[in-house]
Amino acid sequence: MTQIAVIGAGQAGMALAARLRTLGFDGRITLIGAEPTPPYQRPPLSKKYMAGDMALERLFLRPTKFYEDNDITLHTGAQVVALDPAAMTVHLADGATVRADRIALTTGADPITLPAQLCGGQPGVYTMRTLADADAMASEFRAGRRVLVVGGGYIGLEAAAVATTKGLSVTLVEMAPRILARVAAEQTADWFRSLHQAQGVDIREGSGLIALERLPDGTFHATLGDQTSLIVDFVVCGIGVRPTTALAAAAGLAIDNGIAVDSFGCTSHPAIFAAGVCASFPWKDQRIRLESVPHAIAQAEATAASMLDAGTAYVARPWFWSDQYDVKLRIAGLNTGYDSVIVRQGDRPGSQSHWYFAGDRLLAVDAMKDPRAYMAGKRWIEADQSPHKASLADSSLPLKTLNVC
Ligand SMILES: Cc1cc2nc3c(=O)[nH]c(=O)nc-3n(C[C@H](O)[C@H](O)[C@H](O)COP(=O)(O)OP(=O)(O)OC[C@H]3O[C@@H](n4cnc5c(N)ncnc54)[C@H](O)[C@@H]3O)c2cc1C
Repeated sequence: MTQIAVIGAGQAGMALAARLRTLGFDGRITLIGAEPTPPYQRPPLSKKYMAGDMALERLFLRPTKFYEDNDITLHTGAQVVALDPAAMTVHLADGATVRADRIALTTGADPITLPAQLCGGQPGVYTMRTLADADAMASEFRAGRRVLVVGGGYIGLEAAAVATTKGLSVTLVEMAPRILARVAAEQTADWFRSLHQAQGVDIREGSGLIALERLPDGTFHATLGDQTSLIVDFVVCGIGVRPTTALAAAAGLAIDNGIAVDSFGCTSHPAIFAAGVCASFPWKDQRIRLESVPHAIAQAEATAASMLDAGTAYVARPWFWSDQYDVKLRIAGLNTGYDSVIVRQGDRPGSQSHWYFAGDRLLAVDAMKDPRAYMAGKRWIEADQSPHKASLADSSLPLKTLNVC
């Protein structure tokens, strides 16, 4: 094997290419990305970078020299338009063709946009996925301006936090009955609602955006499901993503909530692999897709080994974080299937953790300002151990003294 092509130069693509080299692959590596910049980290786009507290250079995952030093041919601004599994060729928008013995798809996800009748795609209505998105809306984040954030998931809440901190007037609208409905328990939603309301964010839940009209002065008239309306200067939309699968689907690869891979990252074609947020993979008795940096890196690195026939089955250890104001939320595990939540006060002011159980089995923990709870939870979940619920709820008992079974 002498040539590997990696399509998608994001967090997973970068990790996969770098891992191929550290594992000793000495053939040609071509890393192809549609965005005009070298691979960068996305989390700061809705956090420090958006707040203006992080320089552009610090976003990049590696300096340009890294690609030269590791003999990784990086094509930026290069959209792959077709993949031919029979010929093992990758076709770029500019007409170039790359041939490879093995191909990795790390194509990420596309943000869901508002429909055209809600001004989707118009100036002043932004999604939050790329550096270009963040740069396009940067000048809007000025004190005194009014923003409507559509979507009460983590990205919408992070955008609301940055905007509020910068002195904007923020209204956040969530169509579901509550914020964080898709990802967290009511207790976590309540905790973050209080946090944002204390900072002055106007949170409207159970009430979607039903009409958005751009007025002649450039502002927007927004009508919500409860028939209230408001005028805002711009709109930030955080209503989720869809895995980027069109290329794989057109090439005939199996798609199932993402590009379907096995535990080794292999798609339905034996020489084509996929990793990161574009890929769904087996986990316990289900097939899941994870939207997080730690998973993108870990799965990409495991897949690199499999591409060199040196892989072991990838076992995901889900964890995630979010920064809002001075709060760091750390999440370990996946809460799918929980039937109860234990609330525990932390030992620092304002710290709290929410523990998800299915029966007596610990599934996940949301730890707000509480790294100890996160670390204990992560360790237990990964070892498939569970503390007793009653002792966990008693904050006077230190976590390290709790018995687990
Ligand atoms: C604003 C924001 C904040 C986030 N915050 C957090 C956080 O706090 N914690 C956390 O764990 N995760 C966070 N995430 C999620 C995390 O960034 C993603 O899960 C991670 O980037 C996934 O990496 P990936 O490489 O799979 O996909 P991506 O990073 O999306 O990279 C995919 C790349 O492939 C390229 N591509 C797609 N199709 C083609 C093609 N045909 N040809 C060439 N190139 C192509 C795309 O342009 C893109 O650059 C955040 C995401 C966003 C957007």
